[in-house]
Amino acid sequence: MIYQHKGVMIRQTNYSESSRIITILTEDGAQVPLMARGFNKTKSPFIVLRQGLKEVLFTYNRFKGMGMLNEVDVIQPFKRVNGDFVIYTYASYIMELITRALEEEMQQESFYRLMIKSLSLLEAESEPAGVVSFTAIKMLPYYGGQINVDECAVCGGTDRSLFSHYSFNYHSVLCARCIDEETSHRAVPISNRVLYLAGYMKHTPVDQVDSIRISKDNAALLLSFVEMIYDEYTGVYFKSRRLIQTL
Ligand SMILES: [Zn+2]
Repeated sequence: MIYQHKGVMIRQTNYSESSRIITILTEDGAQVPLMARGFNKTKSPFIVLRQGLKEVLFTYNRFKGMGMLNEVDVIQPFKRVNGDFVIYTYASYIMELITRALEEEMQQESFYRLMIKSLSLLEAESEPAGVVSFTAIKMLPYYGGQINVDECAVCGGTDRSLFSHYSFNYHSVLCARCIDEETSHRAVPISNRVLYLAGYMKHTPVDQVDSIRISKDNAALLLSFVEMIYDEYTGVYFKSRRLIQTL
């Protein structure tokens, strides 16, 4: 049977001198392994897949198991992302956040939408650390984590301008009025601008985010807050995270 799907190549491995096996994440959120014959040849029809992250229209034959790749057409080349080492590193972090949570037989259409949205935001010059934070916040539940930034765990207050700490005892924000000797144990001071951004990103549907224009400083603070949440609740280690610290 012949299939045609939009997708992004998420893995590749050499199969022989000239061929590779690639895995694509399709627009329906399925992982499909494909044999790409002649991938490594100079005149390969799949040459556009050799470098960078791209949204591609894949045409392939598949009956069961491994498919056979026939044709590729680039839909979104993400030129800015692929052409700038720093932005590409942030994009790799995004890819890692999404693909690490994929499971073999699981179909996750929302993962694909989040991937394309995040790459498009980077392409459209949104603040890179802000985009990674957004991706990480959306992926957090799939790693079994949670982030509660809507009401103070002690008084139930919802006035965001008063939020001042994140507590790992209460697993929630606390407001400035409720911070005392006892509640401040395992509570980290976080600027309320950052807490506000985290809440906004958590609640806004992926399709409704068109740009993330925040200052570089706030984006960096937001990302370190989100990474602290990941450290506390997921214990997952992302290679690209260290890479970003070296930029
Ligand atoms: Zn309170």
